[in-house]
Amino acid sequence: MRLVLLGAPGSGKGTQAARLKEHLQVPHISTGDLLRAEVAAGSPLGLQAKQVMARGDLVSDDILLGMLRDRFSRDDTRAGFILDGYPRNLAQAAALDKLLAELGQAFDAAVQLTVDNEQIIERLAGRAKAEGRADDTPESVRHRLNVYDQQTAPVIDFYRQHGQLTVVDGVGSLDEVFTRILEAIQPGHEVG
Ligand code: ADP
Repeated sequence: MRLVLLGAPGSGKGTQAARLKEHLQVPHISTGDLLRAEVAAGSPLGLQAKQVMARGDLVSDDILLGMLRDRFSRDDTRAGFILDGYPRNLAQAAALDKLLAELGQAFDAAVQLTVDNEQIIERLAGRAKAEGRADDTPESVRHRLNVYDQQTAPVIDFYRQHGQLTVVDGVGSLDEVFTRILEAIQPGHEVG
């Protein structure tokens, strides 16, 4: 199963992706996690990305595509993948289509998790306390939500126009949302 997870920061993509990974036995590829690992390692790429991420802006498309290409060159992605945090703008959506075509793959569904902005802000405030992520400050959160509306909303339209979009209500318990996602991607299957 090859999935692309879409949704605003704080919509629960990361949490649900971790569960889907166990359930579907395919790798979870989070571009945010990949970038944070580079920052933590102090690599040249990490140094470049650090400030951009702390502000809540998008790291350059070239860096992202290079990272993704690298990740997809590993054998474990042949079984499938759950892509979380990419694509975040139309150029990335086009780059992903191209990369997958080169690999002779196509994804099965783009799943959008919807959560209203008020709830998102509440959730991210909670996460800021719990995890202390550098980009969960109120200014950065506000900025990330703007970036999401301006740059990622067109990606959702793009997949809708291509008939690849599945919309899932992201409000509810973790189990409820997980069940909804499974029903959306595997209609008729028993949720075990
Ligand atoms: P969230 O969705 O909660 O903001 P992520 O972990 O997905 O968190 O991303 C954190 C930050 O990493 C983003 O704000 C951005 O700076 C950078 N980033 C992650 N994915 C991408 C991407 N596809 N393109 C550009 N920047 C990205």
